[in-house]
Amino acid sequence: MKITDIKTYLMQVGPRPGVPAKDGSFRGSRNWLFLKVETDEGVTGIGECSGWPRVIERAVEDLATILKGEDPRDIDRLWQRMYVATMGHGMTGTVGGGALTGIEMALWDIKGKVLGQPVWNLLGGKFRDTIPCYGHAKSTKRARELMDRGYSAVKVGFTGAVDLDLVAAIRDEIGPDADLMVDAHGPSWMTAADAILVGRELEQLDLLFYEDPVAPENLDALQRVRDAVNVPLAAGERVSTIYGIRPYIERDLVDVIQPDTGRAGGITQMRKMAAMAESHYITLAPHSGSLGPVAEFAALHVMATVPNALMLERVEFDWEGRAEVVSPALSSTNGALRVPDAPGLGVELVEEEIAKYPSQRNVTDMPETDGAYEPGTVGECVYFQSRLRRGTRLRLKRTGD
Ligand SMILES: [Mg+2]
Repeated sequence: MKITDIKTYLMQVGPRPGVPAKDGSFRGSRNWLFLKVETDEGVTGIGECSGWPRVIERAVEDLATILKGEDPRDIDRLWQRMYVATMGHGMTGTVGGGALTGIEMALWDIKGKVLGQPVWNLLGGKFRDTIPCYGHAKSTKRARELMDRGYSAVKVGFTGAVDLDLVAAIRDEIGPDADLMVDAHGPSWMTAADAILVGRELEQLDLLFYEDPVAPENLDALQRVRDAVNVPLAAGERVSTIYGIRPYIERDLVDVIQPDTGRAGGITQMRKMAAMAESHYITLAPHSGSLGPVAEFAALHVMATVPNALMLERVEFDWEGRAEVVSPALSSTNGALRVPDAPGLGVELVEEEIAKYPSQRNVTDMPETDGAYEPGTVGECVYFQSRLRRGTRLRLKRTGD
């Protein structure tokens, strides 16, 4: 069996033209990139790449030139060949990681189809038939909707400002038995000292984890938070490969690793990360905030097969097109997704639906909604603007305390 071609499917994710975005739906700049590896025997495999999809599409085209003629069943060897081929570009990063991921995922899909087995059965068999998920809430109303759908875990994201009152209100809404998480999104304006102060407030709210309390490349700051706060920590969504996740695990900086199934390097890299984490009693909760539906299937196969799978992130209320661009579409029951049983990944692209949403833009402007970009001012370097705006961002005391 030989690889004959790799086709890519890049799409814009967001509201249809002229249709207002639903509450919580993706807007603007998000892209999904799917690919299909074709073979001379007619078997095809699909994968998904996150990281920077519009850029990764070209990386996939480049990598295809060294894969044509290769046997798609030699998954690990071909991964190494691709990895070495990108070495001259510097570290792999999440763009290279995204390209390797989508291709490797498709090779597993092919192998499963050839052998007539779901990918999980080629990875050692499964521990579980369903994978628990957690949803996102920025209001008590949304948290209640998740609970009503059967979820028992909710994550609150800080966007723009720390809001301890909101976290406390959602804890009250979901009750003491549900899991609650906070994602600070690793803002550099939050110093280690800030993150510690926030973390100490969060100690009272019985969190499952406190995610990216500081900028993820600032591992020494994360160490300070680790040493000072008695809340489980989570990180890892912005790194790829075992080499990227290694310091988080080896330094015991976190309790939960969160590799992104679309850019971590592939199914085997995810399993290796999980094994590294297992040896440190660290659990795995893959990031899925920007992923499309194919990577979600891959996450289910990985999580079915590792002992230390915690739960999968799921944007339960996102864009309605998610369910239309693949078949079958996943839907949660009682806050969990069923592990697929069909050969391979168990999902196929609906190409005519994907074609309705051509990519237009894949970069976000300033996350601000108020001041936008302000050249020559304190707003110029948003990533480091920090202390001057702390007062508006960092509400350390809950109202009534
Ligand atoms: Mg996150």
